[in-house]
Amino acid sequence: MKRVLVVDDERKMRRLLQMLLETLGLESVAADTAEEALALAQAEHFDLVMTDLRLPGMSGKWTAGMVTESDGRAEPFVAVPALARAARRAGAIIVEGCAARTLDIEAGRIAGVVTEAGRVRCAQVVLAGGAWSSGFAANAGVDLPQLMVRSTVARTEVAPQAYNANISQPGLSLRRRADGGYSLATGDVAEHYLSPASFRYFTKFLKLLSISARDVRLRLAAPKGFPGAWGTPSRWSGGEISPFERMRVLNPAPSPAIVRRIEQRLGQRYPALKGVKLAEAWAGMIDVTPDAVPVLGEVKQISGLHLATGLSGHGFGLGPMVGRVVSELIADGGSPFDLRDFRFGRFSDGSRLAPRRPTACSFRTCSTRRTPSAGTPGCRARSVPRRVCTRGRCARSRPPSRKRGSRTTSSASTSPRPRCSSRCRRVGCGSSTVSRR
Ligand SMILES: Cc1cc2nc3c(=O)[nH]c(=O)nc-3n(C[C@H](O)[C@H](O)[C@H](O)COP(=O)(O)OP(=O)(O)OC[C@H]3O[C@@H](n4cnc5c(N)ncnc54)[C@H](O)[C@@H]3O)c2cc1C
Repeated sequence: MKRVLVVDDERKMRRLLQMLLETLGLESVAADTAEEALALAQAEHFDLVMTDLRLPGMSGKWTAGMVTESDGRAEPFVAVPALARAARRAGAIIVEGCAARTLDIEAGRIAGVVTEAGRVRCAQVVLAGGAWSSGFAANAGVDLPQLMVRSTVARTEVAPQAYNANISQPGLSLRRRADGGYSLATGDVAEHYLSPASFRYFTKFLKLLSISARDVRLRLAAPKGFPGAWGTPSRWSGGEISPFERMRVLNPAPSPAIVRRIEQRLGQRYPALKGVKLAEAWAGMIDVTPDAVPVLGEVKQISGLHLATGLSGHGFGLGPMVGRVVSELIADGGSPFDLRDFRFGRFSDGSRLAPRRPTACSFRTCSTRRTPSAGTPGCRARSVPRRVCTRGRCARSRPPSRKRGSRTTSSASTSPRPRCSSRCRRVGCGSSTVSRR
């Protein structure tokens, strides 16, 4: 992060924040009204906006926000057919309404795909079946850990253009649509239908679950025919009707509770849209991997089988890049990018399976995004302060010294606490104190 827009109507606070940012080596620009801030944010790029003001048309008092001007938006119903047309122009053959039933494997190598319309011989296959990928892979003997969550969203009727940016704020996010309405998502509730896979992959998903437990609602069982649901066949041959033919389009009903929540929050969070009605709500099954990172690349146990799946809720944005990377892997035999974090083998080689968050370096002079550690490349800190998470207690290894002969029979628990003065930044730690060395 380099540039910060500081917005505060109190001159002293503004100046204080700017001084703080300067000591952190960040560039700051100040504004004292919301209008001035918006004009600046629209004209210039800021990596972070720190504001103690109300933003026009938005409710709530804001401490900080982030402007990402390089973000884009597209209408799926326009973008996806456009990509398909472009692929056809480039020579791709797209066959719709035809399920791939299973893989044709000879001596550990791909020999083709068995579809409901017959066998297609080929040496390379890409499995990009979204929420169906894990079941398809399992039928071919490949263990691909993947679970699904139902996500419900809605759109409004045509409404005035009060907001043109995509806005993501707690409780309700919004983006302007090409048809003059707004797409809306609460973003804080995902529903997981319990299935045999929930238990099979429980330990692999434990970390992800512990991080997102507050946002996940468990539902007893998936509707009939859903991928991996109880009763959906887990094994079939190329001669049998596959689960993909029994359910051609995975189209779950939206959750009425979440739709009500969207309705209630619309006017509260975006006062300029108070009274605007919802025109439609829909849902989809989002496929998630244990670390919420896609799986890209070849499966070592079956030569010629490539995975491009597990896009974990970001596939509309990532899709075009994923397509390009995987096609290069196959056509050129490699990628200019380091794809190690995306490899399939991470699920079985003992790698730590947890979503990663960048941890900011807390040492003042360090510009890296890492936790300080002596010798970290790019870390300018000569010595690194030891930070110990104390979960509310000071974890000094030695109690403060006692004077010999003193009548105080102090112990670590009775001696005055050493001063702890900064907030613990350790991810997942709720402690407000850390001991300082
Ligand atoms: C409500 C909602 C909102 C979302 N919002 C965003 C967003 O704002 N930004 C974003 O980036 N992502 C978003 N996503 C996530 C995004 O839609 C998915 O990550 C993306 O669609 C996954 O792409 P995919 O190609 O892997 O799978 P899919 O889009 O599911 O495509 C897989 C296709 O393969 C077909 N298929 C499966 N098995 C077979 C088979 N055996 N034979 C033939 N065909 C088969 C399926 O029918 C399907 O058409 C959202 C998802 C939902 C549900």
